[in-house]
Amino acid sequence: MSSYAARRNALRRELQAANLDALLVTNLLNVRYLTGFTGSNAAVLVDADGDDTTVFCTDGRYLTQSARQVPDLERVVDRPCDTALARRAKGRLGFESHVVTVDGFDGLTAAAGRAELVKAGGFVEKLRLVKDEVEIEALRMACAAADRALAALIGHGGLRAGRTEREVARELESRMLDHGAEGPSFSSIVAFGANSAVPHHSPTDATLHVGDFIKLDFGALVDGYHSDMTRTLVLGKPADWQRDLYDLVARSQAAGRNALKPGVRVSGVDHASREVIEKAGHGEDFLHGLGHGVGLEIHEAPALSKAGAGTLSAGMAVTVEPGVYLPGRGGVRIEDTLVVRESGPELLTLTTKELVVV
Ligand code: ZN
Ligand code: ZN
Repeated sequence: MSSYAARRNALRRELQAANLDALLVTNLLNVRYLTGFTGSNAAVLVDADGDDTTVFCTDGRYLTQSARQVPDLERVVDRPCDTALARRAKGRLGFESHVVTVDGFDGLTAAAGRAELVKAGGFVEKLRLVKDEVEIEALRMACAAADRALAALIGHGGLRAGRTEREVARELESRMLDHGAEGPSFSSIVAFGANSAVPHHSPTDATLHVGDFIKLDFGALVDGYHSDMTRTLVLGKPADWQRDLYDLVARSQAAGRNALKPGVRVSGVDHASREVIEKAGHGEDFLHGLGHGVGLEIHEAPALSKAGAGTLSAGMAVTVEPGVYLPGRGGVRIEDTLVVRESGPELLTLTTKELVVV
């Protein structure tokens, strides 16, 4: 059975538990997750009874592509897909209430006829929380592309005095393409010197100087899966305060990674890492949550934060990324992408976390 068919079967167990006859999936990422289709317009009506009565819809632009990517489902070529599929539904029809607009809902109501529309938001996202091995392999490749790009950037002297943040961001992104990425998984953060104290700094024409922190937060996209890694380096000899700050964040990050175990509350993971920084008197300078899920989206559930709800399960892919930011001076963030496993977390971003001095 393909991984897509296995995912549809897992979804059917959820539909049966909710007493739904079908789910109309209109979120494109969820359609991709369930069918493998990568085009820009599609929907799928997942019948609770099985694949024989499950229908995929796209438009004429994707006739050839959908035949190749979705060979195992009945295909309808029509538009709009949501109402075309709703017209075929009977009984209790779940719809993705977290993505359907008010206007879209009016259209579905008119098309569904006697089928009863039932709010069913987040059903597929719940499955996407736990990655299967096909997804984890894509994440592994995405993380490897980012690791190799950073090694090549450093190895080719890309981090030298006088370069701008923008130049480094461009080089990093082009090197990820060289190493198998479809593209960057988000706009790269490249921050030199005092700019490294801004958690989500956008690259500017600021130039790199000896003694600067160099904060790089970037990722690669492979098969639709996102990697996410932050490393903070120093150009030239680090000052004592830079070493101290780096060591503190590194200890906090290790505590967060070590807390990644199935059954642990996500807020507890945040606490394990944050506690290290708070005890050092820098609690106020750690301005964000500890991490987030990664997969078909760069930020997805679960949120590893103080307010995050729920517990970890084996197979979740998450980031651990504490940071301490000293306005006007500089900041350090260290971020890995990992998979929660029974035997301990699997690290996907393999670049060293020793302080790299270039
Ligand atoms: Zn990041
Ligand atoms: Zn992140």
